[in-house]
Amino acid sequence: GDFPIETDTIVIGAGPGGYVAAIRAAQLGQKVTIVEKGTVGGVCLNVGCIPSKALISAGHRFHEAGSSEEMGITAENVKVDFSKVQAWKGSVVNKLTGGVSGLLKGNKVEIVSGEAYFVDANTLRVMSETSAQTYTFKNAIIATGSTPIELPAFKYSKRIINSTGALALDEVPSSMVVIGGGYIGTELSGAYANFGTKITILEGADEILAGFEKQMSALVKRNLKKRGAEIVTKALAKGVEETENGVVVTYEVKGEEKKVEADYVLVTVGRRPNTDELGLEQVGIKKTDRGLVETDKQCRTSVSNIYAIGDIVEGPPLAHKASYEGKIAAEAIAGHASEIDYLAIPAVVFSEPELASVGYTEQQAKEEGIEAIGAKFPFAANGRALSLNSADGFMKLVTRKEDGLVIGAQIAGPGASDMIAELGLAIEAGMTAEDIAMTIHAHPTLGEITMEAAEVALGSPIHII
Ligand code: FAD
Repeated sequence: GDFPIETDTIVIGAGPGGYVAAIRAAQLGQKVTIVEKGTVGGVCLNVGCIPSKALISAGHRFHEAGSSEEMGITAENVKVDFSKVQAWKGSVVNKLTGGVSGLLKGNKVEIVSGEAYFVDANTLRVMSETSAQTYTFKNAIIATGSTPIELPAFKYSKRIINSTGALALDEVPSSMVVIGGGYIGTELSGAYANFGTKITILEGADEILAGFEKQMSALVKRNLKKRGAEIVTKALAKGVEETENGVVVTYEVKGEEKKVEADYVLVTVGRRPNTDELGLEQVGIKKTDRGLVETDKQCRTSVSNIYAIGDIVEGPPLAHKASYEGKIAAEAIAGHASEIDYLAIPAVVFSEPELASVGYTEQQAKEEGIEAIGAKFPFAANGRALSLNSADGFMKLVTRKEDGLVIGAQIAGPGASDMIAELGLAIEAGMTAEDIAMTIHAHPTLGEITMEAAEVALGSPIHII
């Protein structure tokens, strides 16, 4: 056989979990190898966060151009050349993935192309189309990510697509059925609705965007409906028939069977961890019932020199959570005392308006027996929001009653995705509502909403009664 190549730390998967772990491990003086079977950047950069946000912002611009009459702007004949949108989206992705490759090389991380599986707890085999190579390692970090779930009655095809397919369409569909109103389904629905696609969302639960408060998801629903979308909740998608140039989806709602025709059906019903073909069993790495890898607070698996991070472990399957764990795992390998703490991991939906949440909701605090105050401030009372002609929304600051400690925040409104960072910092730093209220926020900015919500928590807001 081949001669094994020795390395200190080997990382499997170069998504936001793996590449960040590799860079941090290299910074900490380890000899690092990263194995990637697809493209550097993983789901997030190639077929997830970044291309979806690119399509969302393009859709937003297109829609705004034709709907700013209130501000005295009428645009006629606004057109979209979707192949150019796609080319631009591709260029954004390429800049970022190229950047990540550069960062890895700059940190002297060896990038290996191929599919990895464990032979034993210190040996990995990497197969590519043209070669096979064995690596021995002291420590490994598994960051193999996740894959869209396929529903048995909706086998993927040209017209039955997952998020990857929806991001790669070469023209704006005239209609699309979206099964699953989670954040991925809702974001893509919003993007295409802005481009003019007639969207029908079929959601099994009684609300879309489960996990966000109803008052927040209600704003998103209203906006989707304004753009012609139909949202059917408590709907059970049953089957699909492919026609010559489209699909007919059958679903059941309130015991009644219905049909809807569309160009495409997009299935976004969740993702499953890529933990099946790695030889984990062989090494004795324990998994949960859901196929997630079991880890401790330092991302260590049941095999002590092997770590796991990102979508394949417990916790919200989000890019920034994967990266955060990547740093913890690399630091743990270097002997640091770093540990994960999920409280301040933000969750964002790039819908219209944007939704963002960090820490506890009022309800969650209650369930944990924490006496909390939810202090609300509306975007409509903020000068910047009004001058943006985008004043739909609110912030809710959640503080502990006994001492005003900031323990959570929820935001629905323009800029929520950026505004949530300040609240994450407040939680991490153990700040109180008073600390935020006493911080001078520039005028006129959306940031003042945060200051005012803190004033509400203290009982003395200036700009609402
Ligand atoms: P991944 O990014 O999935 O990367 C894993 C990598 O491992 C892949 O490149 C894969 O090819 C490689 N790999 C797998 N098995 C092997 C093997 N055996 N050998 C070698 N390589 C292997 N998250 C956010 O935080 N914000 C967003 O806005 C957001 N938007 C999203 C939109 C969409 C449409 C989707 C699908 C996801 C979105 N996500 C978002 C989720 C985010 O993409 C994931 O949480 C994130 O990519 C997980 O990172 P990861 O490093 O765990 O794995």
